Amino acid sequence: MSRILIIEDEESIAELEKDYLELSGFEVVTQKRGDAGLKCALEEEVDLLILDLMLPEVDGFEICRLVREKKDIPVIMVSAKKDDIDKIRGLGLGADDYMTKPFSPSELVARVKAHLSRYERLIHSNAKENDIVEIRGIKIDKTARRVWVNGEERSFTTKEFDLLTFLAENPNHVFTKEELFREIWDMESIGDIATVTVHIKKIREKVEFDTSKPQYIETIWGVGYRFKV
Ligand code: CA
Repeated sequence: MSRILIIEDEESIAELEKDYLELSGFEVVTQKRGDAGLKCALEEEVDLLILDLMLPEVDGFEICRLVREKKDIPVIMVSAKKDDIDKIRGLGLGADDYMTKPFSPSELVARVKAHLSRYERLIHSNAKENDIVEIRGIKIDKTARRVWVNGEERSFTTKEFDLLTFLAENPNHVFTKEELFREIWDMESIGDIATVTVHIKKIREKVEFDTSKPQYIETIWGVGYRFKV
């Protein structure tokens, strides 16, 4: 549930806004004074700020400026004076929206919803997505180190995972066993190129429908392996 902070010194207006927003499913906190409101905006978990311009102690201009330095939550500024709205627009304080009082509470709710959904999309698009390799029925999540074959998750050992991922990321490229060994196992590893053969066999058992007729990892006789696309 989104949490909205209203900083408004006119109690009747604050109550009206709060009632409408709560009816729309939002959690609402109100503050009457600028200084207390600023503290709340900076220190508490707030998803959107509705900010009156003229406030005791610290005014809306200053609150908007200070909140902007710390947070990128949507800020809707409200004022009784149309002139003030024009003035703050001109100042480029970074508020996302401006409303002149009196406004209809449903208009406020509509704008709150619009700003929150835009803000959520923005956060979502900035979230780091997992690195996925997908070839035919095989899906490899490199970030989570998970593998699905035709939608079913299979478990792989570390080296099996590394080998499968390396081959899948270089499709149609033929690698010798020596190349694969060097790529996946570090130089100090105990083992030899026979290790590669063993791992390929294990991977095939997990990804191939019929290991005698591999659809993914092909053996190129006398050379090595390739991931077929
Ligand atoms: Ca006021």
